[in-house]
Amino acid sequence: MIQTIHKLGRPSIVLLITFVSVSTSLFITSMVFYVWQRSAISNIGIAAAILTPLTVAPFVSWYLLGVLMKVSALEQEMRLLASLDPLTGLLNRRAFFNDAKVLVNYAIREQISVSIVALDLDKFKSINDTYGHSAGDLALTNFTKVLKSCCRQSDVIGRLGGEEFAILLPNTSADEAYQFTQRLHLALGHSSIKVENTLIKYTVSIGLLSLVPTQMDTIESLLHKVDGSLYLAKNSGRNRTVVYGR
Ligand code: GH3
Ligand code: MG
Ligand code: MG
Repeated sequence: MIQTIHKLGRPSIVLLITFVSVSTSLFITSMVFYVWQRSAISNIGIAAAILTPLTVAPFVSWYLLGVLMKVSALEQEMRLLASLDPLTGLLNRRAFFNDAKVLVNYAIREQISVSIVALDLDKFKSINDTYGHSAGDLALTNFTKVLKSCCRQSDVIGRLGGEEFAILLPNTSADEAYQFTQRLHLALGHSSIKVENTLIKYTVSIGLLSLVPTQMDTIESLLHKVDGSLYLAKNSGRNRTVVYGR
C-alpha cells in the first residue's frame, strides 16, 4: 500500500480517491432515485452527488494519506533503531546474525570465500575500574570509529555484547583479512582516548577464520570456531590476531 502511494505520488492517489468517491456517490444517488421514486436522477440530485464528495474526499484523503506516510516512516525508523546498538551505532547481536547469515548462505551458493573476525578489547574491565564507566564507553565508541576506518563499506560489523565485536568480511581471502586485522592493531596503537587530561591506550585481541563455506557451515558454527582462536590470542599475550587452524 505504502509503496503504491510512493510510486504514484500523494496528489495522484488523492485524485483517484476523489474520482472514485464522486462516481460511487453518483451511482448510489441514481439508485436511490430509481428505487424510491422510479425516476431518473434530478439535476439537484446530480449536483449534490458530485459536490458532496468533491468537497470532502480531497481534504480527508490528503490528510489520511499523510498520516499513513508518517506512520510508515516511523515504523521504518523504529525497525532501524531496533537493529542498532545504541552506544556504538553498530548492528546489535540479533541484526548481525541476521545479516551475516544471508552473506554466509550467499558465499555457500556462489562458493566464494568469507572471513569471520571475533574481537574482544583487552583488559577492558581495568579501564572501567581505573577511569570510570564513562571512560569505558568512550573507549567503545573510539574503537568503533577506528574499526570503521579500517573496514570496507560492505563489511558487516556487530557489537555482540559488552566489549565483544564480530565482523563478517564478504568475498575476502585469508591474506586480505589478515592484512585488515594488522591494520586494525596498528591503527589502535596510534589511537587513544582522553579522560581528564590523561591519554588512555587500549588494545584488542582477535580471532580470524577465512574459508569457502560449505552446506555444513552456519554463522553460529563459524563464530564458535573463531572464538577458539580469540581465546588463544588472549592466552598467548593479547593484542594480537590468531588465525584459525594455524
Ligand atoms: P580480557 O582481556 O580477558 O578480555 O579482559 P576484560 O577485562 O576485557 O574482560 P572481562 O570480561 O573481565 O570484562 C569485560 C568488562 O566490560 C566488564 C564490563 O563491566 C565491561 N563492559 C561491558 N559492557 C560495557 C559497556 O557498555 N560500557 C562499559 N563502560 N563497560 C562495559
Ligand atoms: Mg569479553
Ligand atoms: Mg575483554
